[in-house]
Amino acid sequence: MKLSTTEREIIESSIRDIKDFPKPGIVFKDITTLLNNKEAFGVLMNHLYLKYKDYDLDYVAGIDARGFIFGAALAQMLGIGFVPIRKKGKLPYTTISQKYSLEYGFDEIEIHIDAFGLNGGAKVLLVDDLIATGGTAIAAAELINQAGAKCVEACFIIGLSFLDGQRKLQDITTVYSLVEIN
Ligand code: AMP
Repeated sequence: MKLSTTEREIIESSIRDIKDFPKPGIVFKDITTLLNNKEAFGVLMNHLYLKYKDYDLDYVAGIDARGFIFGAALAQMLGIGFVPIRKKGKLPYTTISQKYSLEYGFDEIEIHIDAFGLNGGAKVLLVDDLIATGGTAIAAAELINQAGAKCVEACFIIGLSFLDGQRKLQDITTVYSLVEIN
């Protein structure tokens, strides 16, 4: 299920660039202008539904916080469950966690140990808004696998292809980004 040129343009033009946020030199890709644009949000979710409806997925997992919005909406459309992967200290039950490096220092994300049921082998799609260096998504895909499931694909609205993240994540799972920024 390929995105048409018109559909890609509708999605791409709805994303707003904010220069020098959160710090000088970063161009922040603001997806709030996609979310409040009913045509763009509709085109996006319809495309994701058609792309993933025959993958026989068991769960969608979304990364804190923008991955929750797209991931939960998609899970509901596919008729399957949604699992949040959260920043450290937010999940109330027993968790497993992964540390990953940022430009300066470390961050940590967590998942509930029983998030994908107790049988093992659940097929999971990982969703986030954007992949940059890939540190967050690699840690998230590893968490899914450590929780006894299988991360069968990672899906992003935006891929920053001038960074190495997508290539590194491909060692762990298949990667799909709708809009590539060179
Ligand atoms: P990374 O771990 O470097 O791939 O960073 C990915 C995470 O940081 C995602 O959850 C994004 O939402 C966020 N992020 C990184 N860079 C940007 C950017 N230029 N614009 C918007 N979000 C970003």
